[in-house]
Amino acid sequence: MPAFCMRCIMFVDTVTFTVKSGDGGNGCVAFHREKYVPAGGPDGGDGGRGGSVFLKVNTNMSTLMDLRYKKKFAAKRGEDGRGARQKGKDGESLTIYVPQGTIVKDNASGRIIADLSDADSEFCVAKGGNGGWGNSHFSTPTRQAPAFAKAGRKGVEREITLELKLIADVGLLGFPNVGKSTLLSAVSTAKPQIANYHFTTLVPNLGVVHVADGSMVMADIPGIIEGASAGVGLGHDFLRHVERTRALIHVVDVSGCEGRDPIEDFDILNAELKTYSEELSKKLQIIAANKVDIAPEGAYEAFEQQMQARGYEVYPISAATRQGVDALIKRVYTLVQSIPVPEIVVEEIPEAALAEGPLFEIEVVDGIYYVTGDFVYNLVNSTNFEDVDSLSYFQRTLRSRGIIDALEKAGINEGDIVSMDEVEFEYEK
Ligand code: GDP
Ligand code: MG
Repeated sequence: MPAFCMRCIMFVDTVTFTVKSGDGGNGCVAFHREKYVPAGGPDGGDGGRGGSVFLKVNTNMSTLMDLRYKKKFAAKRGEDGRGARQKGKDGESLTIYVPQGTIVKDNASGRIIADLSDADSEFCVAKGGNGGWGNSHFSTPTRQAPAFAKAGRKGVEREITLELKLIADVGLLGFPNVGKSTLLSAVSTAKPQIANYHFTTLVPNLGVVHVADGSMVMADIPGIIEGASAGVGLGHDFLRHVERTRALIHVVDVSGCEGRDPIEDFDILNAELKTYSEELSKKLQIIAANKVDIAPEGAYEAFEQQMQARGYEVYPISAATRQGVDALIKRVYTLVQSIPVPEIVVEEIPEAALAEGPLFEIEVVDGIYYVTGDFVYNLVNSTNFEDVDSLSYFQRTLRSRGIIDALEKAGINEGDIVSMDEVEFEYEK
């Protein structure tokens, strides 16, 4: 396939697998050792952060084939902290490459969490766990030798489904046997190699149409029949594939060779389309009045007159003899250039579901309430405990972020000691 068509040709294809980000490394318990210094302070370093899992577009991929067999992708865990305040190394992140146009679904919630439609799209699908704090964080004036550290946070594990959405510029609409496949093969040069793939969904026929100064992708969308929007037959599935096309060529058979009325066909199909999706029915339609080579005298003219009266552009063609085909394609190409590729609505996943849990954690050791976590660390280190305003902000934040409630829940009483990073205070109601 020529390079340019990689961007646009997308097969409808899905794969499901599990991703797991790395656990954070454990914090270290260690004490400073030096000659002639009898009792060194705690200097256990923090654990490294676990690696994250990213999904990133690779424009050279055109299917999800490469991802079919591996069922689990895991990033590396963070290293444990070491003495002398040495932080453990962060775990290596993992990047999974996907074709452009991949939609990411979270299986647990069933929601779409990302749409990787741009050439440079990248998405963190599982964030690595934070490293645990080493014991150097836990020393306070009254507790100079804390003999414990925090374990690293667990990474996130989730099952996801990738779905590759068809992105064709133009879709061919029309009843069976009106000549859609014939038109596609008459105008397109490149045909994707799909014969060897086992797709779960039927694949619309795709072709690349070359025009003077560029190209566009055309999809032949079979299976649209009366009752399709009610889920009869395959129509429903196929209709989904047209959702992201920029425009539609509505092919009708004006010859009446199958005993059908072209205007009636046109109306039935459009009613079908509208029932399925209001959005879809608003897409620009150019009418290709096919089989003019065998149409009876005046049949085309009568059809054209009616359709033009309704405001449509109509082109007389014969897909079989190629008569009129170039004019149609030239016009469609020009129109398509000014229509943006429709976006898919992505439901934002809450940050909390991607990250590794709560803002803080509480642990009670020897009657002391240890509150830990990056949030707590940042709060403590940005507070000036000598300053009334700063202190009252600190207290308000403890309350608004639910830390006070959590301490109460953990069973704290008046006068108990709360330890946060390098500060320690008595709890007052
Ligand atoms: P599709 O079901 O819409 O894909 O229709 P096909 O492309 O398979 O065509 C159905 C039949 O119509 C085939 O026998 C084609 O050879 C014939 N056909 C398609 N286009 C033309 C045309 O322009 N003129 C004539 N005479 N026959 C055509
Ligand atoms: Mg066909």
